[in-house]
Amino acid sequence: MVLAIVVPCYNEKEVLPSTAEQLLGAIQRLADNGVISKESKIVFVDDGSKDCTWELIENLCKENPANISGIKLSGNRGHQNALLCGLLSSKEFADACISIDADLQDDISVIGEMLKLHASGCEIVYGVRSKRTKDSFFKRTTAHCFYKLIHMLGANIIYNHADFRLMGKSAINALEDYKEVNLFLRGIVPMLGYKTGIAYYERKERMAGESKYPFAKMLKFALEGITSLSTKPIRMVTMLGIAIFIMSLAMIAYSVFQFFRNDTTSGWASIICSIWCVGGLILLSIGIVGEYIGKIYLETKQRPRFIVEKKENCR
Ligand code: UDP
Ligand code: MG
Repeated sequence: MVLAIVVPCYNEKEVLPSTAEQLLGAIQRLADNGVISKESKIVFVDDGSKDCTWELIENLCKENPANISGIKLSGNRGHQNALLCGLLSSKEFADACISIDADLQDDISVIGEMLKLHASGCEIVYGVRSKRTKDSFFKRTTAHCFYKLIHMLGANIIYNHADFRLMGKSAINALEDYKEVNLFLRGIVPMLGYKTGIAYYERKERMAGESKYPFAKMLKFALEGITSLSTKPIRMVTMLGIAIFIMSLAMIAYSVFQFFRNDTTSGWASIICSIWCVGGLILLSIGIVGEYIGKIYLETKQRPRFIVEKKENCR
């Protein structure tokens, strides 16, 4: 079985040499044990780095032409796009791909277990963090809130799983059918179906260099995740509109009641009624328009309606 380890890299000159060495060691060991073929490769995808990351990748390719290859994107397209590019090009030669971050915060010693699960029939194996003690309190809590929120909004993502996962060729072929541009892989992969497995590991600290996901980028990524997986926020506007409209009916009854009790300044009842009623109707209309926009949004993604895993006796 040929394995590809896909590593997106953005300004990773500090960690790249050590990452390459560790991954090569892992491939060597697995190949020696006969788990994977000797043609297995590490695929570094340079996501438009501004430092000498690409030069380092070129050198690594020259030193290890059999086991290292490199892809350079024309500019910084973001982690998810770099990852997708790596997966789609690797499936041409590999039977399975494992994606991992360049800083090796994810434990490469579970790769063996992932491959075992894959051999036992799991087309997708998620690497899941058993503990996040090494992450900062801030990152842990924000991540936790994000998982909770996205579940509430009806999207299916795996708790404490980032982009450390194994995907078989069929799963990557299926992934290719998802043509959307707002890519949030950890939301799309569970949609693919197939038998899946989980390998647990402890996440380490970054070896060197800085996180390429500062808070602003993380927030953008979280919003991307929510808006690309769920149109429920639009539904919430509609619901709010309905609620306020119903409240406006109560307010109308109340102000008419006050009006007849002569307990009001002149003009109060009509102004209050119209504010509530018109406000509710405006929100409701925005929500209804939004419902259609949501439908258009989902249609424009042109996601596949089904994915065939196997066929028998079909001509
Ligand atoms: N990365 C990328 N493009 C970007 C930002 C990040 O390819 O625009 C890569 C980065 O090189 C690393 C992975 O995405 O391999 C995850 O980044 P990082 O480890 O900095 O994120 P964190 O672990 O702090 O969430
Ligand atoms: Mg990291």
